Amino acid sequence: MTRRHWMKLLRTWGLGASAAGAAGSTSLAASAAPTTTPARSDRVQLTEAEWRQRLSAAQFNVLREEGTERPHSSPLNAEKRTGTYQCAGCALPLFSSSAKYDSGTGWPSFHTPLPQALGTRTDYKLLLPRTEYHCARCGGHQGHVFSDGPRPSGQRYCNNGVALRFVLEAS
Ligand SMILES: [Zn+2]
Repeated sequence: MTRRHWMKLLRTWGLGASAAGAAGSTSLAASAAPTTTPARSDRVQLTEAEWRQRLSAAQFNVLREEGTERPHSSPLNAEKRTGTYQCAGCALPLFSSSAKYDSGTGWPSFHTPLPQALGTRTDYKLLLPRTEYHCARCGGHQGHVFSDGPRPSGQRYCNNGVALRFVLEAS
């Protein structure tokens, strides 16, 4: 069975709608070019050896190998203070604490990323298409976005806590 037939079948079953919805207006572009990343002049490109040196084993697994941390394992789940969540790979600010909410999933969750911070890609790892997202500066994998989030965006950015660094806002 080809992927196209798979997709048609999944749609028939009413599956895959969340990933398609999450891609929103970029879904057409995404099917032609599966990766969409905002153009940045400050891209960070390191070799695998350099990343291994810079990151912990757990960070490397998520950021560079698209691993997923165990749910409820990140201390950032309980983080409620005001500040910014940066990419643990390159320190690019990805989310404001004002966009964080408790999704009950066991992963830090946000409804809106900071502008130009993330790129997305359709991923078929679990057969059902999901929208993967990554840091726009270093390409580090952060998590997946689903369309069952709260207002105002209706989106849920389900992030691996180990891929983030929380920076407390100076008071
Ligand atoms: Zn990064």
